[in-house]
Amino acid sequence: MSQVVAQGVEGVEMDPYDIGWYVESADEETYGPVSRDTLGRWLEEKAITPNTLVNHCTQPEARPIADQAALKDRLPIEQQTKPVVGDRLEEAWPRKTRDRLALAEGSLPCARHKKPATLVCVRCLAPYCGKCRMKPFKKQFFLCRRCQASVFNRRFGALMLDSLLLVYAPMILTVVVLSFLGVEPTSVQLAMNIISLAALPLLFFRDSLFGGAGPGKRIMGLRVVQTADGHMPLTHIQGVVRWLSQFIPFFNLYDAAVPYRDPLLRRIGDRWAKTRVLDAPRKLEEAREKVARLLLKKGVQPLREVGLTMEELARIA
Ligand SMILES: [Zn+2]
Ligand SMILES: [Zn+2]
Repeated sequence: MSQVVAQGVEGVEMDPYDIGWYVESADEETYGPVSRDTLGRWLEEKAITPNTLVNHCTQPEARPIADQAALKDRLPIEQQTKPVVGDRLEEAWPRKTRDRLALAEGSLPCARHKKPATLVCVRCLAPYCGKCRMKPFKKQFFLCRRCQASVFNRRFGALMLDSLLLVYAPMILTVVVLSFLGVEPTSVQLAMNIISLAALPLLFFRDSLFGGAGPGKRIMGLRVVQTADGHMPLTHIQGVVRWLSQFIPFFNLYDAAVPYRDPLLRRIGDRWAKTRVLDAPRKLEEAREKVARLLLKKGVQPLREVGLTMEELARIA
């Protein structure tokens, strides 16, 4: 990964599976996050069984504890003679936030705060604390709050930049030049209409024409990929479809705001077109290097990967 990590600085090896587990109870309620130690204790107390479904915060799907490579050799899993189902999670799960936090904390520190971490971010690879956690807590986010906000804000910035570069700048320039040349106001108006008409297809195709990232996204370090493989740039048709939602008044405002609260960072337009917006590789590398430096300062050897890549995240439907 980064040069920072490649130097091989001494530090405590980071095990992301030490923290960040969600547990699905038999009544379909989800509890967590909890640490691996808590899972072990619950197994011993028979509050859960090896058949209980769990997923790490970097995993999109839950699997039985006995099938989790990161758990099965580390936890007291007894050989079952007959399959045990059901659990006593409702009793085991404390009412108070402070007690819940104690079940979530492991030995890893938050990359940014002087607090124990409870989850791991799939984008920046940082272990992070409750302060860095996205709300609402009911949803399982793959990214820490900082990363979720970074991607969202840059998308919004890219939209503003594209409107400015492709629509407003040509308009303003035309008005200035035509006025300077002494052209009649009616002709200036006509020229403006032509420009706004020409800008429309440009806005539609701005990302697909430039290999997955229009001027705004390029400046902001973003790219649009297909969910089919999480890697290929969007097609022209996908470019049109993902923009249709932006032409429905009021709905477009709602649609522009939803990616912030969506764990997969989707606009409604992205769902229709089967596209996702990801970081450009260099931008992702920057975010990870920054976290790597913070962790090394705390004596923790940074991660190189967490199992789920951003491209794999983009493939989740
Ligand atoms: Zn992050
Ligand atoms: Zn934190």
